[in-house]
Amino acid sequence: MEKRRIAILGSTGSIGRQTLDVIREHRDLFEVELLTCNSSFMTLAAQAREFDANNVVICDETRYKALNDALKDSDTKVFTGIKSVCDLVASDRVDIVVASMVGFSGLAPTISAIKAGKVIALANKETLVAAGSIVMEMSRKYGAPILPVDSEHSAIFQCLLAAQGNKVSKIHLTASGGPFRTWDKEKIASATKDMALKHPNWSMGAKITIDSATMMNKGFEVIEARWLFDTPVEKINVVVHPESVIHSMVEFEDGAVIAQMASPDMREPIQFAIGFPERLPLSNQKLDFAELGSLSFFKPDLDRFPALGLAFKAMERGGNIPCVLNAANESAVAAFLRDEIPFYGISDVVGECMEKAQFIAEPTVEDIFATNSRARSDADRLIESIKQKS
Ligand code: MG
Repeated sequence: MEKRRIAILGSTGSIGRQTLDVIREHRDLFEVELLTCNSSFMTLAAQAREFDANNVVICDETRYKALNDALKDSDTKVFTGIKSVCDLVASDRVDIVVASMVGFSGLAPTISAIKAGKVIALANKETLVAAGSIVMEMSRKYGAPILPVDSEHSAIFQCLLAAQGNKVSKIHLTASGGPFRTWDKEKIASATKDMALKHPNWSMGAKITIDSATMMNKGFEVIEARWLFDTPVEKINVVVHPESVIHSMVEFEDGAVIAQMASPDMREPIQFAIGFPERLPLSNQKLDFAELGSLSFFKPDLDRFPALGLAFKAMERGGNIPCVLNAANESAVAAFLRDEIPFYGISDVVGECMEKAQFIAEPTVEDIFATNSRARSDADRLIESIKQKS
């Protein structure tokens, strides 16, 4: 494979760091053109030095000076602000963009990269939840392929390579079930932040770990799959699979099911996206089937995990409602992480914001940004009233 010049948006986060782990094993195949993060300037400076990055951006302007000082005697150019991310990502010197920022903040730079016709390795699922139809339409218009990094979607993508043009009858999206899979409703209701942050299989950032505990993450992934694979939601089946060995499955009209398996380690789907169509050798844990013994499967419980039901509802209503779902969830998860609302407060806030929202059937990009701000202030007001009651 020819050397690829890579930009990593959110390089100090979990996916960003693991992308650099993959690159560390294949230094001859990648040149690090751009690294960006929100505020972790020490980590960003260390990454820039190790990978000899040409440019770095720190979004938090108050950290610019500290980052600049840390990189004073290096060749790396230092920038600040989200506008710089949007500009640099579109540069001729970038071939592939790993979009691994957290939440809605990933939308603007991803749109900028798509408009510049870059290959997008998409880890930021909120981009497709909030603006799926717009982003996919742009991807086609500007010839910017979107390759999934999310493990389930990478699995589906890998299974679809076996389709050979045949019709897919179903996508089976697997879910670990999160840390509260076996808990009853009362116990979940009183779950603390520390309990929710202990994911059984995956080590991830705080926001997505809470989303896994509520199963909102799986709801987002249904929406993400709907857009990435142009598949109606009715054909997407969520199945709880606690071992996280099968990362998803595709069923064909003859009943044959193709599954993709690997140890739960994000470096596998990351390498598949940034190396595609080649598979890069990795020093990850390989599967030992005799050691595994058995794999198990269960139906998801929408009563104990109402967030998953809300995501289905948002998708059914369509328009700007999935954007409301995402925005309200971001505010509510942040409030839960500040110990301001109880665990089920997250789905309560999201559900109420969806009820309240002004429906727009075919939102523009501007509508999406406006919907996002409005839903966040609605959510913040609800959070404030929950806080005062408790
Ligand atoms: Mg996933």
